[in-house]
Amino acid sequence: MAEPMTCAQVFERMSDYLDGELTAPERLAVEAHLKGCEACAATNGELKATVEALRSHLRASNEAPAALKDRLKTLLVGVRGPG
Ligand SMILES: [Zn+2]
Repeated sequence: MAEPMTCAQVFERMSDYLDGELTAPERLAVEAHLKGCEACAATNGELKATVEALRSHLRASNEAPAALKDRLKTLLVGVRGPG
């Protein structure tokens, strides 16, 4: 049974969601939230683009893409900040 998630809960799970690492109920709850929350949907879209860039970078190189990791953190911390 899927329980409604808050924005903070969605943000906490967003990278796992994009990695396909959530359980089915969690994934459904995130998707339900994204449909009804423009802020989370916009962030999810931006994060997805970042994750895809990270993945293509990892495919091209074994080096740790520190800049992209920092970008992810900044993105997540930024949207969870005030309010
Ligand atoms: Zn939200």
